[in-house]
Amino acid sequence: MTELIVHGATLLDLESGELIPGSSVRVSGERIVEVAPGARITGDAPTLDAGGRTLMPGLIDAHVHAAFTTLDMPAMGRRPASRIGIEAAGLLEAMLRRGFTTVRDAGGLDRGVADALDAGLVKGPRVFRSGRVISQTGGHGDLDPAPNEPKLCACHIHSNWFAHVADGADAVRRAVREELKNGAQQIKIMASGGLSSPTDAVDMVQYTPEEIRAAVTEAASRHTYVLAHAFTPAAIVQAVTAGVRSIEHGLLLDTASARVMAEHGAFLVPTLVTFDRLAEIGHCWNYPRESVEKLQAVLTAGTSAIQVALDAGVRVGFGSDLLGEAHPAQSRELLLRSQVQSPLDVLRSATAVNAELLNRPGELGTLAPGALADLLLVAGNPLEDLSVLADSGKGIEFIMRGGEVVLNGLP
Ligand code: ZN
Ligand code: ZN
Repeated sequence: MTELIVHGATLLDLESGELIPGSSVRVSGERIVEVAPGARITGDAPTLDAGGRTLMPGLIDAHVHAAFTTLDMPAMGRRPASRIGIEAAGLLEAMLRRGFTTVRDAGGLDRGVADALDAGLVKGPRVFRSGRVISQTGGHGDLDPAPNEPKLCACHIHSNWFAHVADGADAVRRAVREELKNGAQQIKIMASGGLSSPTDAVDMVQYTPEEIRAAVTEAASRHTYVLAHAFTPAAIVQAVTAGVRSIEHGLLLDTASARVMAEHGAFLVPTLVTFDRLAEIGHCWNYPRESVEKLQAVLTAGTSAIQVALDAGVRVGFGSDLLGEAHPAQSRELLLRSQVQSPLDVLRSATAVNAELLNRPGELGTLAPGALADLLLVAGNPLEDLSVLADSGKGIEFIMRGGEVVLNGLP
């Protein structure tokens, strides 16, 4: 069992926004047991001298797709599950090394990779897995092109590695039950059109209130919640009113829909970097031309939607949503976000706000007694310059996840 005292650290208190030199923290097992701002903890546990580096909680990314291992969509559809699993493990380990000690997988990651992480066979962040996404026919999760011969069978569900395409409240209920049975920790639905799907416009509202409520009710019966991919005000309002807790992207959010989100206590998880990257490199990977074209319509709205949400009092989390070859840009989201928020608020989004979203406040995204020991030691001051965290985590010299040291580059 880990016993460690980290001393000589400059504690970044994300609640107060203060940097407190000469601080120390004591870890026992997987948890933080003592925090001493500006003081040295003594005791017989082994010690680590932080040498004045900034001590902060590990980051949380609330929107990743670890199993989307290439931007080449047709290739993705043909890739065997075993290869996807091996590639996903590599992508997850890279996320951890960028300082993301917790991630929420927003669709596609199967139980095998999560089991392998739990068993210590591979290294990676703590994963909150959504399993397969739930989408309507012709929705954002329906990756098949328009067929010559439609699949109209009586069961109303067809499934692949990424999605259950389910129509009608009963079929949605069945699909959600299947994923929850299979260990999904929350449920992802597609509530509007999107970019990477071939047969739906961005402004399409997807699912009906009855179908969404079926998903929300099933999730609630297992004490969890639904996150929804949604771009437009109409889709956002329908989803939130039907009980969705977390709106993903929300690029076209306006004041009225933001107000509905705030009233319902919903979270917004913006994902700017994925649109930034797809516009840049999507064409190199056979990313559908119509998808790259759709990007233009949404990109400019991205940052202003965040401001609209903040002004309305919506809690704004932090996500990246990168696919395949775009994954190395994950930490760039921190920089894109700092166009709208102060570095302190960006870090709060990626720690305490995301922890609240995951229903784990006080346990994740914080340095406090009783919290899981997810610690970063960073060379430099992230409050002045977020790029100390953003350059693929190069400024991060020490990473602990749940009491386990996963990177120690200290001299
Ligand atoms: Zn999405
Ligand atoms: Zn996504």
